[in-house]
Amino acid sequence: MKRIALHWQILIALFAGGIFGFFIPDGVVWVAWMGDLFLRLLRMVIIPLVFSTLVTGVASVGNADNLGRIGLKTMLFYLATSLIAILTGLVLVNLIKPGVGADIGLAERPETIGVVGYSFLDTVLGIVPDNIFASLMRGDMLPIIFFAILAGFFITRLDQHHSRSLSTAFKALSELMMKITMFVVRFTPAGVFGIVAKVISEQAGDQDALLAVTGRLGLYMLTVLIGIFFQGLITLSIALKGLGGINPAEHIRNMSAVLLTAFSTSSSNATLPLTISEIETKSGVSPAISGFTLPLGATINMNGTALYECVAVMFIAQAYGIELSIGQQLIVVVTALLAAIGSAGIPMAGLVMMAIVMSAVGLPLEGIGLILAVDRILDMFRTALNVYGDTCAAVIIARSEPDADKPEASNCVIG
Ligand code: ASP
Repeated sequence: MKRIALHWQILIALFAGGIFGFFIPDGVVWVAWMGDLFLRLLRMVIIPLVFSTLVTGVASVGNADNLGRIGLKTMLFYLATSLIAILTGLVLVNLIKPGVGADIGLAERPETIGVVGYSFLDTVLGIVPDNIFASLMRGDMLPIIFFAILAGFFITRLDQHHSRSLSTAFKALSELMMKITMFVVRFTPAGVFGIVAKVISEQAGDQDALLAVTGRLGLYMLTVLIGIFFQGLITLSIALKGLGGINPAEHIRNMSAVLLTAFSTSSSNATLPLTISEIETKSGVSPAISGFTLPLGATINMNGTALYECVAVMFIAQAYGIELSIGQQLIVVVTALLAAIGSAGIPMAGLVMMAIVMSAVGLPLEGIGLILAVDRILDMFRTALNVYGDTCAAVIIARSEPDADKPEASNCVIG
């Protein structure tokens, strides 16, 4: 019998989980463990997978010129698309004005949530690990990426004997992690079923959330969703076609299991193992490129989060009746970009990072309470766009670097 394709299995699991969570919320305790187990399995593979693929990827890219060029292209793509996403959100929120007329007034402060302090300088310094083993244990992605890039690069600068053995060892490790990932990925439908059943049962009991969708918050949700679909279907399609000659419909089809998993887990990080394996098997992207672009993207490239930060903050300002000047809106754009870069690829990270944007323009942080009710559902959509943006970068850069995975490059010794 022919097996049903993974993305269909996941889609069926998503709907079945939703129906189960909605109609049998009391039964969720019996299935939620499947989601928890699946997320644990994913987290188990993330760090060794990212570390080994990135070292292998960078080592096989070979020399400083190639590495610099691929790095520059990747960063440019990530920054440019995030910025376009934010501007799209800004235009939409100014056109639709979802918060205008909500008339909250600064006196009626909504419930507060815990917000974190954030210093840009600390984040930049934090990219350099002071103890790589501690970073690996904590799963701090940026320091791990930094160290892996250095390790991969300097492997190519060792004498041939050592360079060969280390390259081979890391390659073997990355292949091992890939095999384990493929094994874990088979459980995605069961995991998605458990996760979605739990999320829906929690949301279904939340009358506020259901009621909210009909009012101003509904309009706010719509604004974010229009922006997300515009960025995913129009902006990134133009990038795929224009920069890589890639058919967007085909790319979306190839990435459907990835998108559904990102949607269900609301976590770019948890989706990363699947993103790496699918982009290599379905789109034929070399490990050199995927190992470099995807872990970096899961950490810093968040088109959906960037757009959402901007729309949410503008919505809160509108609801408070605060008119933000063009200059202040510019500050929103810049800080939304920083907030998106700084958000971890985990559920609801963007909500917490919004504090940076809010305080930059002097909005009361309690305003975040206004959008809480619908945040979980928006998180699903923005995470799918975040991950989709990473995959677009990977295929476009792979197209522009046809030699990146040449076998002889992997043993290239320079200097
Ligand atoms: N959940 C998102 C992600 O993992 C981050 C966010 O909360 O916006 O990509």
